[in-house]
Amino acid sequence: MTAPFARLSDDDLATCVHCGLCLDACPTFRVTGLETESPRGRIYLMTQWKRGTMAFDEEQVRHIDLCLGCRTCESVCPSGVPYGRIIEAGRADVEDQRRPSLKRFASRVALRQLVGHPRRLRAAGELTRAAQKLGLTGVVRSGRMLPPLHPRYRPAREVLETSSPRYRVAFLVGCVMPILYPQAHVAAVRLLQIAGCEVWFPPGERCCGALFAHNGDLDGAKRLREANMRVYNAGKFDALIVDSAGCGAHLKDYYPDLKGRVKDLTEWLAEVGMPKPESQLNVKLTYQDACHLAHALCCGAAGLYSTLEPEMSNRILQEKLDDVIATGADVIAVANPGCQMQLEAGLRSRGSTMRVEHIAETLLRAY
Ligand code: SF4
Ligand code: SF4
Repeated sequence: MTAPFARLSDDDLATCVHCGLCLDACPTFRVTGLETESPRGRIYLMTQWKRGTMAFDEEQVRHIDLCLGCRTCESVCPSGVPYGRIIEAGRADVEDQRRPSLKRFASRVALRQLVGHPRRLRAAGELTRAAQKLGLTGVVRSGRMLPPLHPRYRPAREVLETSSPRYRVAFLVGCVMPILYPQAHVAAVRLLQIAGCEVWFPPGERCCGALFAHNGDLDGAKRLREANMRVYNAGKFDALIVDSAGCGAHLKDYYPDLKGRVKDLTEWLAEVGMPKPESQLNVKLTYQDACHLAHALCCGAAGLYSTLEPEMSNRILQEKLDDVIATGADVIAVANPGCQMQLEAGLRSRGSTMRVEHIAETLLRAY
């Protein structure tokens, strides 16, 4: 049995000098105005629990639950506080201390028994698609949030060649992305080929573990990381390409053996260069900087957050929608499936006709 709050690092917590410069950047502080819903408040709370100067209190765990894990605070912090590491360790420590709840138990079981197993997840995707056709998914909120499902993404071969390859890249197909937004993967892979990359789909690759870590299940995330590393170590590649910002951030932080080789699709294409586009897109477009790529203002999706904390998620979304709609754009391009689903549902609820699409789909239309 480990000591309480052993995962939280004293050194990490001590980097916060309580200056408060992060407060206005934090989406939950912005909508509540409460110190307890700010990065500084959360760090203070976790520090007191760790030091034993404040008794652990179930009520106060809400402040940890309500953190999106978006890490916007990290990018504005002048002291270099590693907030992402702190909140993930803090969440895992809190899970050891808190009373069990049905909601959290169900989310952990869903992650471990479904998301962590590609075959079961694919079967669930097929069932959901059938239920959508019968109009059965509209009865629950999470069902209404889903985009219309199409056949999942399946690479035609283990390796997709290109003429005169300049690079060989591995591609993260991932867990929910091939089911929710297969068209994004199709476009991403095509863009990689246009950029002169031979694309390898590592057989046996599983969920990267981001959803697990975000949910405080660091052991589950570790098991997936170990399984994936066995798969990656069996192949040779210049970079592992990810077209889901949340997964990319997790792979960069938690896969030290891939250091420097995990690249977001947009990052990689900018690095290796693309041929001149064949056509011009005459469309008014805005871009959603995903929290996990640019630490921009979060849309409230944040992995399972929109399911576990729908009220706060919706308050944050409304602020985002005001800004998005004010741009008057025809299209909003995104780099993360969670953002895409959240923005699609939000824009629908406001009666907006703005289209949401993955940045890869937008780019591909120019070729
Ligand atoms: S997290 Fe950074 S910006 Fe926020 S209070 Fe602490 S030191 Fe200041
Ligand atoms: S991760 Fe996001 S929601 Fe959590 S404290 Fe930082 S800015 Fe606020």
